[in-house]
Amino acid sequence: VASLAELDSVEAELELVELQISELLEKQAQLTRRKNALLEQVEETCNAAQPSSSLSSPSSSSKLSGDFPWSKDVDEHLKESFRLCKFRPLQLRAINLTLSGRDLFLVMPTGRGKSLCYQLPAVCSKGFTLVISPLVSLMEDQIMSLKSINVSAVMLNASSSKEHAKTVMAGMTDAKCPFKLVYVTPEKIAKSKLLMSRLEKAYKANLMSRIAVDEVHCCSQWGHDFRPDYKLLGILKRQFPKVPLVGLTATATSSVLKDCEKILCVSQPVTLTASFNRTNLYYEVRIKNDTSLNDIASLIKNKYKDQSGIVYVFSQKDAELVSSELQKMEVVAYPYHANMDPESKSRIHRKWTTNKIQVVVATVAFGMGIDKPDVRFVIHHTISKSIENYYQESGRAGRDDRPADCILYFGFADIFRISTMVVMENVGQKKLLQMVDYCQNVDRCRRSVMAVHFDEVWDGEECCQMCDNCHHKKDYTTIDITKHARQVLQILEMAASMDEKMTPLKVVESWMGKGPSKVRKMIQTTTLSRLQAEAVIVHLLQQGYLREDFSFTPYTTYFYLKPGRKAPLLKNQTHTLSMKIRTAQTSSSSSSSSSSEVKNLSLNSILL
Ligand code: ADP
Ligand code: MG
Ligand code: ZN
Repeated sequence: VASLAELDSVEAELELVELQISELLEKQAQLTRRKNALLEQVEETCNAAQPSSSLSSPSSSSKLSGDFPWSKDVDEHLKESFRLCKFRPLQLRAINLTLSGRDLFLVMPTGRGKSLCYQLPAVCSKGFTLVISPLVSLMEDQIMSLKSINVSAVMLNASSSKEHAKTVMAGMTDAKCPFKLVYVTPEKIAKSKLLMSRLEKAYKANLMSRIAVDEVHCCSQWGHDFRPDYKLLGILKRQFPKVPLVGLTATATSSVLKDCEKILCVSQPVTLTASFNRTNLYYEVRIKNDTSLNDIASLIKNKYKDQSGIVYVFSQKDAELVSSELQKMEVVAYPYHANMDPESKSRIHRKWTTNKIQVVVATVAFGMGIDKPDVRFVIHHTISKSIENYYQESGRAGRDDRPADCILYFGFADIFRISTMVVMENVGQKKLLQMVDYCQNVDRCRRSVMAVHFDEVWDGEECCQMCDNCHHKKDYTTIDITKHARQVLQILEMAASMDEKMTPLKVVESWMGKGPSKVRKMIQTTTLSRLQAEAVIVHLLQQGYLREDFSFTPYTTYFYLKPGRKAPLLKNQTHTLSMKIRTAQTSSSSSSSSSSEVKNLSLNSILL
């Protein structure tokens, strides 16, 4: 127990260090912002003096952003070629920077419009833009959509025919410039001397206007999606130093970006980071219970009447089940999952896109290529496996920048279903626990939790009551759960003494006095309601008093609970443990649905 006390104090110290780190990160972010602001000033002064060679209209001497020599051209192409009415945050700045010849890293969440930041400059520049992209399917999508707006783009990859490759290579050095964008895989750059020699020629003829490296985090081994061939892309900037490079990614920490900078041999790039914060989305977590499905149906039929949305579920079976339940309650909902034939999938997708189906009940297979702007709600029937995943999935709401809701139903059993699903993933449990933490938390702004997660500085003012915790600020209390924790541990010890393993479900049942009578006699049962008991167990798991104990059979993986590393601390009579718990769940959207939760969660009387 002596070493445990030490563990406790080391953990306290660690917490302090983590606090200091976050303070330093904040300082780093401030300094980076300051640096970028200064760079911007410098660049504006430079601009007036020496316009870059890629300008398409005669230079004027204006220094103001928004009034560059190319501004008129950019604006025309936005409206006429790309048929968009205005820029989203950071797009114009990125475009102006790259048109002024600066190297640029652009970090912007998926779906916010990174591609425009090199496609539009490509159209406004002489020659062609070289785009490096990791996936042939991504390139095909882009080329298709560019074709539809009459922007000529071509692609070179491992399966390109000789004939096609020849045309592309010839076009690269053609001053008449038959295409504005050339998409290539990194493998091509790494392996094709022919391509490199062509690029060399194009460079000498001033026909390579820009290099865009999409998914630029793939360069770094510290990133989440390292590709060996990306490591070799430094050759581009070494051979073609005068060509501005723009690297794009949805997720990269500053250390990953630093690494990319080195690997790509760019010096002093400007980094623009779009906030992950989607100000138009309302984030809410509800406790999942027996009436949740009715709750969902009633939301869809009332609050979201005639509006488009997605319900995300855990499995294919759930997709079928939930959609048929919703149909019974007269919601026009259809399932979508990976196991459907491609034809049905695209039919559902099409009908939903054209508003013939109100709701798609989908597994995460429904994601790629969803670009419906007017999704007004994304409801999670089951938690996501990580905060990143949740951010992505819920982020499909409100792409038109108008208000939309992201509601997540947090269910006890779902935690363990997902836990066994991600059991093979390296940091799967850690990420899942962060997600659980997001759900269980009742006092911190949901946005601030995401901000910390995405390494972003949060000033606490930016939510504007657009999450349930900010909206119901004071509706929680802190309670002492030491006694409850001891009871749970006692159940596990008793089970261990009988050489038995307990699933979380079984622990809850026994604790509530629903187990076999011989067990009931050996333990203290609880007066907590089921939801409260579950919340306490989740908290113990998060805090390390309990931990997971997986068991594999040829067909399935079981999740059992066992005492965690902090469990022995509870033997110490002076050790106490508390948790914050919501006192009332007043729902902003539908009051009928929340009454059962209010009953279950108004627990002061029992717990205090
Ligand atoms: P990312 O690469 O950042 O994930 P994309 O470049 O693929 O995002 O763009 C996602 C969607 O956003 C595309 O359908 C694009 O047409 C749309 N989009 C981009 N910029 C704008 C804009 N300024 N206004 C409206 N829609 C835009
Ligand atoms: Mg993209
Ligand atoms: Zn908030």
